[in-house]
Amino acid sequence: MAENVTRDGTPWTPKYLESIDHATCIGCGRCFKVCSRGVLEMKGISEDDVLVDADDEDAMRMVMTVAAGGLCIGCNACAMVCGKNCQTHVSE
Ligand code: SF4
Ligand code: SF4
Repeated sequence: MAENVTRDGTPWTPKYLESIDHATCIGCGRCFKVCSRGVLEMKGISEDDVLVDADDEDAMRMVMTVAAGGLCIGCNACAMVCGKNCQTHVSE
């Protein structure tokens, strides 16, 4: 893996968002607001724990999903604002 550095050359290990635990996510949207990369998407979750569109009538509550994980730059901003500790980040 290539070495990652900040602008001044300080070593930096990316923390890519891999997954979100839908059992603990409350769909608050804070992570969505801070992500500049279009990685996240709010979805609904049904009574049977099936993901549905946010405006689907079967949506019992909202959860955040990793819609485009390949666009993540590993900035870790989403983890910093999540009060539920429901995200998993990885460095590769
Ligand atoms: S780590 Fe940064 S780029 Fe990746 S999903 Fe979180 S806020 Fe977006
Ligand atoms: S900040 Fe945490 S609890 Fe809120 S929507 Fe994002 S992952 Fe879910």
